[in-house]
Amino acid sequence: MSTGIASLLDKNFHDRSDILAMLQCSDEEAPLLYRRAAAVRDRYVGNHVYLRGLIEYSNICGKNCLYCGVRRENTKIDRYTLNREEVLEAAMTAYKLNLGSIAIQSGENSSVAFIDSIEELVRTIRQMTDGKLGITLSLGEQSSETYKRWFEAGAHRYLLRIETSSQALYRRVHPDDDMHRYHRRLECLKTIQEIGYQTGTGVMVGLPFQTLGDLADDITFMRDFDIDMCGMGPFIEHSDTPLGERGTENLFLKERFNLTLRMIAIMRIIMKDINIVASTAMQTIDPFGREKAISCGANVVMPNLTPARYRAGYQIYEGKPGYREVNESNVSGLNLDLIPGISLGLGTWGDTPHFGRRINRR
Ligand code: SF4
Repeated sequence: MSTGIASLLDKNFHDRSDILAMLQCSDEEAPLLYRRAAAVRDRYVGNHVYLRGLIEYSNICGKNCLYCGVRRENTKIDRYTLNREEVLEAAMTAYKLNLGSIAIQSGENSSVAFIDSIEELVRTIRQMTDGKLGITLSLGEQSSETYKRWFEAGAHRYLLRIETSSQALYRRVHPDDDMHRYHRRLECLKTIQEIGYQTGTGVMVGLPFQTLGDLADDITFMRDFDIDMCGMGPFIEHSDTPLGERGTENLFLKERFNLTLRMIAIMRIIMKDINIVASTAMQTIDPFGREKAISCGANVVMPNLTPARYRAGYQIYEGKPGYREVNESNVSGLNLDLIPGISLGLGTWGDTPHFGRRINRR
């Protein structure tokens, strides 16, 4: 076995060429990378997996991202918005099951009614749970005022995926119009961070036209941005989208899966104390994809609490698991036997040590 990867892992700082070399390491060397990432996770954020009960609030979206099944021009899905009681019931389920946190996600909507509803829901959930249930929002690009209102209402984490840090690639996977500007997304991400949210972003792995160099740049982008949370998943085609018209290239899914494992492991080695999600997209390709991501350094999962009858309407990518996976006997949906040494971080927000350090450096 080449000793290349071993010496790379021991470096204190990894530049772009180091990251590229780690992405390109051989299949024989990859387990070394994965084991190191898991050890870094255990040392810097602990051997716990934190839970975020996922509530997919609405699939009404004003945007038209070329890869997404929820895009505005997809007329083949029934649009829905959960009512207030459904959201509160899902949040209370998370609270009673001791998940510690919820994540409210939605298609992008900046209407007054939407903004007001989210603010009221966040406030009510905080009151109903005595402030004990953590609240992450993932509601796309909004005005600074809206981000502030939701923060003041009690949300404290915000996830806005950049999807790719390459401006050229961003343009190729989004319509070329004012609703889909790379710089606007970046500005939103900065605003979220400045307001005081724990800030998360992430990318898709295996997009058409994407190179390994783009992925290495994604990692340096996230490091330079000093993010607190990272969500990455393999690109999976949706047949009702412009980028999915070729159909799912099953042959390549495994490759994207393996590349995502490497991205997770490298991200953990480079940003030791952040939270990294083991995404549902990993589970779509491999039934134990999330467990494998945890073995490579991830430490967050998002069990789905959306009422089952709405699940089919929130297919951002095709084949997303639609079953209700949260139940009292297995709140994470994980097979913990496959990840020995890992326990669930129940009843806690599961904040990152990185966030505390970032705020103190200000
Ligand atoms: S990725 Fe998000 S913003 Fe883009 S179309 Fe899908 S739900 Fe809307």
